[in-house]
Order: sequence, then structure tokens, then C-alpha cells
Amino acid sequence: MVHAFVRSLALMAVLVAVSATAQAQEKLKVVASFSILADFARNIGGDRVDVAMLVGPGGDAHVYSPTPADARNVAAAKLVIVNGLGFEGWLSRLIKSAGNKATVATATKGVAPRKDKAVTHDHKHNHKHSHDHEDADPHAWQSVANAKVYAANIRDALIAADPAGAEAYRRNTEGYLAKLDALDRDVREAVAKLPAERRKVISTHDAFGYFADAYGIVFIAPQGVSTESEATARDVARIITQIKTQKIPAVFLENVSDPRLMRRIAEESGAKLGGTLFSDSLTDEKGAAPTYIDMIRYNIKALTSALAG
Ligand SMILES: [Zn+2]
Repeated sequence: MVHAFVRSLALMAVLVAVSATAQAQEKLKVVASFSILADFARNIGGDRVDVAMLVGPGGDAHVYSPTPADARNVAAAKLVIVNGLGFEGWLSRLIKSAGNKATVATATKGVAPRKDKAVTHDHKHNHKHSHDHEDADPHAWQSVANAKVYAANIRDALIAADPAGAEAYRRNTEGYLAKLDALDRDVREAVAKLPAERRKVISTHDAFGYFADAYGIVFIAPQGVSTESEATARDVARIITQIKTQKIPAVFLENVSDPRLMRRIAEESGAKLGGTLFSDSLTDEKGAAPTYIDMIRYNIKALTSALAG
């Protein structure tokens, strides 16, 4: 009797282990082009998905050279999530060469694209600028309202790829959208406390246009919306003059850009260094911004402490 009981317990343990392995193997394989999309996909996919990312924490997705491991991840994926708006110029080649039939979902579908005005204007009289981003600003995730569009697009893509998980994906999305609503309110409250004349900063590249439009902080950047082109001496001189004449309080570094240019601008203009903003990438688990929500909270804290009267 006892032996039979122990045997059946052992058998049950084996069965549980086998079904857990089977479940792990059945997870939907998703590839996200960069860390912010991977975070959205994990929040919405929950434990039904296995999310790999191409450009990892601290990486610059404007300019990226895919690795053989990236090609393997894309080849194994059922769903590839991309930002679009010309952000990942290197990606279509990778997807083509992987040769699989993964669905490619564009997370910015339905977002009203911001035009790349600054760059168009600055270079209008010099030369025809040669960005490959179709003159749209790709950094749509910097407005929390847009992040909600990303979340809905990712939910729909996950449901299409894995209809059995529809209910779970809808439930996860609802919970996540509520967190984004709270985040959006907090950002608005924090900005409202700043003196209106101090709501302006310098950042390295033009990554905060959507944030600026949504929340009313002016961002001026020596580099355009892509990190592909470098700021010219003329761009830098113009920014230094602008800092002085408009009394811009702070200059920020970015986690994906070389800090030397901004340190020089701060030194020559007398503006203070406000710290680092997370523009195009999250950090790893140990860093200050391992998730999108952490990133926005970190940025607004850095901005408000530098700009408070
Ligand atoms: Zn960028």
C-alpha cells in the first residue's frame, strides 16, 4: 500500500515536471527590436510568451549591427515587434535574411507621427539631408498616450499569433493600461509644479519631441532625431548662444549617446548638467530604468529636480 502510494506520488511528480516542460516549450516566441518594446511585450504577454530582444539595454537602435544570435532568434520567432517610423533601418534586411514566416507587427500603427521639423529646417539651406527615417520622428514611446497605442497594437498582435491566449492578453493589457494612465497623470502633475519659464532643457539628440508635445517641456538638441548624423560645429555654437539668450537652466546627457559633447556645451554655456535621461533604451535589471514605467518616472524626476525654481 505504502509503496503504491509513494510510486503514484513519484509518478505525479514526473507528470507535473513533464507538463511544465511542455508548457515552457509551448511559449509563444516573440522578438522585439529593442528593450522598450520587449518590456511592453512582457507586460502584455505575461507567462505565455518568451520575449527576446535584438538591441539590448543601453544599446542604440538607430545604428545597430545584428549578430548571428539575432538572426537565429528572428528565425525561431512567430512574432516580431518593431517600432517603425524609420527607427530600425537595419531590421528589414535581418528579417528577410532569416527567411521565416514570422508576422511583423508595427507597434506605432495608428500613432500620429511627429514630423522631423528641426532637422528639415536646420539643413534646408545647406544640403539635402540624407536620413533614412522618412522624415518622421520615431521616438513616439516618449509620450505615455502613445505607449497606450503601442500596448494595444502588441495585444492585438499577440492575440492574432496565439488566439488561445486572447483572454489573458486582454486582461494583462487592461492592467497595464491602468498603470500607464496613472503614470501619465503623475508626469502632468510634476510638470505643472515647475515655473513655466524654466520648462526648457538641452538633450543630446532629438528624442523627446513627443514628450515635449505631450507635457509642455521644450527640448533643444544639437543632434537630429537619429544618432546617425553628428552635430556640426555650427549646431553646437547655435545651441550655446540659445542657452545663454533663453536662460535654459539645464543640459542633459542620454544613456545612448556620447556624453562628451553635452559636457562641453554645459561648460561653455554655463548651464548646469542635469544628469542622464533615458531616451531610446532601458537599463538592465540592476539599473535605474529596467522597465518603461521606471524610465518615464526616472526622467521626470531628473527633469523636475533640475528645473525646479
Ligand atoms: Zn533616438
